[in-house]
Amino acid sequence: MLDKIEHIGIAVKNAAISKELFSKLFNTPPYKEEEVVSEGVKTIFFQTGPNKIELLEASNPESPIAKFIEKRGEGIHHIAFAVENIEAEIERLKQEGFQFIQEVPKDGADNKRIVFLHPKSTNGVLIELCQEKS
Ligand code: ZN
Repeated sequence: MLDKIEHIGIAVKNAAISKELFSKLFNTPPYKEEEVVSEGVKTIFFQTGPNKIELLEASNPESPIAKFIEKRGEGIHHIAFAVENIEAEIERLKQEGFQFIQEVPKDGADNKRIVFLHPKSTNGVLIELCQEKS
């Protein structure tokens, strides 16, 4: 089962500028900044009320974020849902015919194991499943 929306990811060109912008918007600084080398992204996390927003900046030109911004510009990149058992959800969704970008969970930012569903099987929306690492 997919639980609550864990966070929403926003692709940005310049993390330093967007960090200022979103700090003003939320009236609070980010609680975490982390580079995920395997994904080629720098991430900045904000907490506003019960919500989490992840800013993503490409850390190299081959990064999926660089390609996304090239194609579609800055903006909402993905919606992440919390799951309790990521392997079980991957299996269930595969049975339902969903496609994944990769089927094996990998380490993401903010102490999570993550996978992405392919947006062509979810009406163009990039969906992340994430499980808190224990
Ligand atoms: Zn995310």
